[in-house]
Amino acid sequence: MKNSVQEPVKLKKINLLDFDRKGLAAFFVGLGEKPFRATQLLKWIYQEGVEDFELMTNISKSLRGYLTEHCCIAAPEIAIEQLASDGVRKWALQTHCGNRVETVFIPEEGRGTLCVSSQIGCALACTFCATAQQGFNRNLSASEIIGQVYVAQKRLGAEAKITNVVMMGMGEPLLNFDNVVAAMNLMMDDFVYGLSKRRVTISTSGVVPAMYRLTEVCDVSLAVSLHAVTDELRDELVPINKKYPLKELMEACRENAKLAPRRTVTFEYVMLDGVNDSLADADGLVKLLKTVPAKINLIPFNPFPNASYRCSSNNRINQFKTLLNEAGIVTTVRKTRGEDIDAACGQLVGLVEDKSRRHLKLQMTGTGHVA
Ligand code: SAH
Repeated sequence: MKNSVQEPVKLKKINLLDFDRKGLAAFFVGLGEKPFRATQLLKWIYQEGVEDFELMTNISKSLRGYLTEHCCIAAPEIAIEQLASDGVRKWALQTHCGNRVETVFIPEEGRGTLCVSSQIGCALACTFCATAQQGFNRNLSASEIIGQVYVAQKRLGAEAKITNVVMMGMGEPLLNFDNVVAAMNLMMDDFVYGLSKRRVTISTSGVVPAMYRLTEVCDVSLAVSLHAVTDELRDELVPINKKYPLKELMEACRENAKLAPRRTVTFEYVMLDGVNDSLADADGLVKLLKTVPAKINLIPFNPFPNASYRCSSNNRINQFKTLLNEAGIVTTVRKTRGEDIDAACGQLVGLVEDKSRRHLKLQMTGTGHVA
């Protein structure tokens, strides 16, 4: 029988990791406090690593009491940690809804890059990406995005420092605009991680209207997943191209590049054997990028189960690179890292309860190109 005594209603606590500095200042003003409380709080949380409000000694006793009662500092928890033979670490992080997202730390000489996820799964259907095959569950909250940096840095401790963040994990960051921007603001905030705008990169498949919005509100480095030089092929590989074709995409890139003199947009180009890697494609790339201040990052295709593509040969990747460099476009080949733990580009899958029913649709229609 049900107990007739009513349980006290437990109100959900406000997670302070959901606020950037502006949001936190507004929150404190709403409480009748001064906006500078925001910087104090951010310093305690992100720089001192203090989670117990009672230990935040420059905050009044009454406010500490209020925060303890109504607020929390809650990041996603590590469910699985894997270490690759090349030192790359991958964490599967548990979210409150039971799904898991993945975050990858890539140590390099003199720097440490964290690859951060923005969504649980992905609603876009790029045919060469493992995350896309998983379907989509939901956007991550700002706390779940900045929480990846928070948890990773805490776990790495003194062993390594996160010096760069790339929004290149699971999901399309520009389809989760507000939360991603709040989290990137925190990454660059002097009272949080203080990363320069050159060290925070957002990668997009080309959500053109959101690219313009981004150019207006948040100055971070921009990477664009190009992967094809004709609309016909890009429609197939990156289907959002049907909505925002190359001409519109290039215009949005040119606009972003105007943010500062000598600023460039990085174009990512996955190397798919016999699909987009002919020397005519390289020529097409030179022509397409003639009017955009551009760098190119060639990504060797990383395989995943049931993928219907193969990676181009090293020989072809080098020829492609040489042709682009000789045409005056700075071109690098992305080093594949963390492959033995499925932590490389396009291999992140986590645990996604698909709400878009994508994998059912894919089963019915097949997944694009068959090599
Ligand atoms: N949705 C965003 C963020 C993902 S970033 C975007 O599309 O830009 C991850 C990068 O890895 C993108 O350039 C993506 O196109 C690329 N990628 C996806 N699957 C890949 C694979 N299997 N091998 C190599 N690169 C891949």
